[in-house]
Amino acid sequence: MFLKGKSAIVTGSTSGIGLALAKALAAEGASVMINGFGDADAIETERVALQAASGAKALYDGADMAKPDQIAAMVARAQDAFGGVDIAISNAGIQHVAPIEDFPVEKWDAILAINLSSSFHLMRAVVPGMKARGWGRILTTASAHSLVASPNKAAYVAAKHGIAGLTKTVALETAPFGVTVNCISPGYVWTPLVENQIPDTMAARGLTREQVINDVLLAAQPTKQFVLPEQVAALALFLCRDEAASITGANYSMDGGWTAA
Ligand code: NAD
Repeated sequence: MFLKGKSAIVTGSTSGIGLALAKALAAEGASVMINGFGDADAIETERVALQAASGAKALYDGADMAKPDQIAAMVARAQDAFGGVDIAISNAGIQHVAPIEDFPVEKWDAILAINLSSSFHLMRAVVPGMKARGWGRILTTASAHSLVASPNKAAYVAAKHGIAGLTKTVALETAPFGVTVNCISPGYVWTPLVENQIPDTMAARGLTREQVINDVLLAAQPTKQFVLPEQVAALALFLCRDEAASITGANYSMDGGWTAA
């Protein structure tokens, strides 16, 4: 349990990759604040399980990542409850698929707010404490779309490219203080986010469900396998280790070879 005594916030951790990240951190003894939307009873069940796994505190905060004041309040609450935030993972994200001329303005605004600006608000709130303590780990769940584009995903690709730049910038600013800042950039991971975009892609491209899975989603991934949330979590855990102290400003692809092409 190498994270005993450490504390973490994982945004968007009621589902998918974020939940796997929270479980991995708790399994190593970290206190964890989970965040995101969903059924209250299901979230409480996850929170209790995290506490049992870590032997440390686990808290839930329902802050909306589109609301800067709620992000600041979430971080303040974690700092009070845990005595500081050592690990912050900006993971919450949403998707919308449409050609640029039909892309709803409110979807653009929501994706930029939740997938990009929330990381800025989280980082600016946790960095002072990390610098003061001389240790910190900040991770962002970016995407292969931080490096390459796909059609019909203007807002998502723009936000994820932005995450890559934000990560590099904050890595440079915090490098002298024992704080590392890195992105993990998965290809297609089998989570509700991917499953939920299948109907839109079917409509946008006039394809069947099987065609979307095999010819669109996994078309880009030479392994022809979805990435697993637990694989993302394993890399995140490594980046939290002291052995990873010299890794900062990096963007780690975990995409089955997608961006090698
Ligand atoms: P998911 O839909 O399973 O989970 C998203 C999480 O974010 C949920 O907990 C949800 O409640 C939360 N969330 C959504 N809007 C929120 C808001 N306004 N405020 C607070 N929480 C909010 O998705 P996932 O696939 O696990 O995605 C997690 C991250 O990984 C996202 O940033 C996504 O872009 C990125 N990613 C996913 C894939 C993939 O293939 N699934 C690939 C690359 C990157």
